Amino acid sequence: MNSSIDKMLGEYFCKPMAETAARRKLRLLFVGAHPDDADLFCGGTAIRFIEAGHEVRFLSLTDGSAGHQRQSGAVLARRRYEETQRVAGFLGLSYQVWDNQDANLEASKQNRNRLIQFIREYQPTLIITHRPNDYHTDHRQTSILLQDAAFLLGVPNVCPLIPPLTSSPVILYARDFFKKPYPFRADVIVDITAVYKKKLQALALHESQFFEWLPYIEKHKDSPPKGAAERLAWIDRHWGFISDTRQFGELLSARLPPAIRAGIVQTEAFEICEYGGRMDRDISQEVFPFGLYIEGTPGAGEA
Ligand SMILES: [Zn+2]
Repeated sequence: MNSSIDKMLGEYFCKPMAETAARRKLRLLFVGAHPDDADLFCGGTAIRFIEAGHEVRFLSLTDGSAGHQRQSGAVLARRRYEETQRVAGFLGLSYQVWDNQDANLEASKQNRNRLIQFIREYQPTLIITHRPNDYHTDHRQTSILLQDAAFLLGVPNVCPLIPPLTSSPVILYARDFFKKPYPFRADVIVDITAVYKKKLQALALHESQFFEWLPYIEKHKDSPPKGAAERLAWIDRHWGFISDTRQFGELLSARLPPAIRAGIVQTEAFEICEYGGRMDRDISQEVFPFGLYIEGTPGAGEA
């Protein structure tokens, strides 16, 4: 029994990197509603994929043109697109933004077929999106679009000019805090502690959001600071709850040695969407080598 922390991490969190790399290059796709959702809900996980040599693509289904108190329309859409491209350059990923109007996304046949074609062409191994019950209509529509597309990805007579997928990508929902009709369930937890600062730096590139719009709409009493370090601390203070690990304390403590558990401060967690490819411990290690698969969670691993 090897007792080194690295070996234990390999046992609990992932196969050894060399073995993972030898198998295949993984492709992670986040399908979000707005041009910052992917960064916020999946940024740390994306960084871990990229640092291990895998490929990540962020997709925003709307143009973000409703996300500001003073700017709007094409000016805001252009500004937010440029912010996504700064993130893309900083993290080393592809960030695509569709021209659906923010706050007006519809789970239409047109959008569904466009999404089916996009996914077939990219052939992701893993897709992450919003849960279907969410405060924002665009988040709900995005989730429904992906749910509706999931089965049709493999149906040859749907969008027949692009070959269907021969295996279903695993689909996961990003963590949220909504309780009805059922609360979020962590089926996979990713330790992002080591890359958390980089995630904050990526979020800080969305200047229009984290330093202008979100403080306004969320009625923050404190004003955004000017200094770079203070700005990261500001984002952590107001939106760090999304990566807070305390809710998963018991889950992690029951599965990990105390020395490893103690080092995990920030995480991103995901819930299995049963319309995607099958997910169990072995498949998790294959397509999601950085995730701690939570065995024994009701529903997890079902065919
Ligand atoms: Zn959003």
